[in-house]
Amino acid sequence: MPHRLSYPFADRLPRDGELLAVAPGIHWLRLPLPLALDHINLWLLDDGPDWSLVDTGYGDEPSRARWQTLCEGSLARRRLRRLVLTHSHPDHIGQADWLCRRFEVSCHCSLGEYLSALAVWHELPGFDAVAYDRHVARHGLDQTSRNHYLQRGNLYRQNVPALPAHFSRIVDGDCLSIDGHSWQALAGFGHSPEHMAFYCAERRVLIAGDMLLPKISTNVGVWASDSDGDPLARFLDSLERMAALPEDTLVLPSHGRPFRGIAARVEALQRHHDERLALLWDACCEPRHAFELIPLLFGREFDPYQTYFALAECIAHLNHLWHCGALQREAGSDGVLRYGQNGSGR
Ligand SMILES: [Zn+2]
Repeated sequence: MPHRLSYPFADRLPRDGELLAVAPGIHWLRLPLPLALDHINLWLLDDGPDWSLVDTGYGDEPSRARWQTLCEGSLARRRLRRLVLTHSHPDHIGQADWLCRRFEVSCHCSLGEYLSALAVWHELPGFDAVAYDRHVARHGLDQTSRNHYLQRGNLYRQNVPALPAHFSRIVDGDCLSIDGHSWQALAGFGHSPEHMAFYCAERRVLIAGDMLLPKISTNVGVWASDSDGDPLARFLDSLERMAALPEDTLVLPSHGRPFRGIAARVEALQRHHDERLALLWDACCEPRHAFELIPLLFGREFDPYQTYFALAECIAHLNHLWHCGALQREAGSDGVLRYGQNGSGR
């Protein structure tokens, strides 16, 4: 079997506000994001006379305005029966509260995502700016960047104006019946606390969320609340699980175009992370901290917004090598953690 990706919608993107059918009863809505990653894909599923929705877009005014137009336009005669969230990042959950209130529905998501959204929104200990500052200082972040993060306020709350007051819990393996079709929840880890993708075996369709993207690699980061963790191991395990799905599965990712070729994409991502691990291991022949390794890992400098994710990703790779025993980790007299080779090989 050839292991490469194919894009059935290579020459077609949904126009602004258009619901483009990608499979029977499944429609693609693409909303803009005010970020370098400039769009998110949402999936509307026919659900009897109504519809169900996976993810909501950013919590900003332009996204709200688009929803208002849709709800008063092409969706005016249909009710939202069920809102499903893959995870709690702002581009996925941003309009959830508004949609839940408007249609008086509950949002379906995992406990891990709902609770972590609450923790970040309310800045609970471990998820607050002080904990974050302590975390990044331990990894060598410069004072100017630290001041930037301390002064910028709660970015999550700025992009998620409110969270739904209640939710319906989904756990790994649950099946949601939508329009008579069974969608199985597949938990994935490493990108967010308890991400859910949804697989319909009958239709051979996977709504992948952020766990499997066709062109860019998903951000896998270490954050303050789990600063010694190894999310990369969890992410790679989760990819293995997805690779076991049938090769002709149509993957609907949250960013980029729908594609087929899960195994090829998983292999490419495994290779990508392995190369990065090799690069970092070589660089740690002398003890190095995470912040100074960012240019090596990514081959470029970042603005403060991107540095926030780049540093988390760099720590994730270093922690993975540390968990595997290939690197050791020690705090210097300045309190900064430095990683150095532990023996002669990975
Ligand atoms: Zn995400």
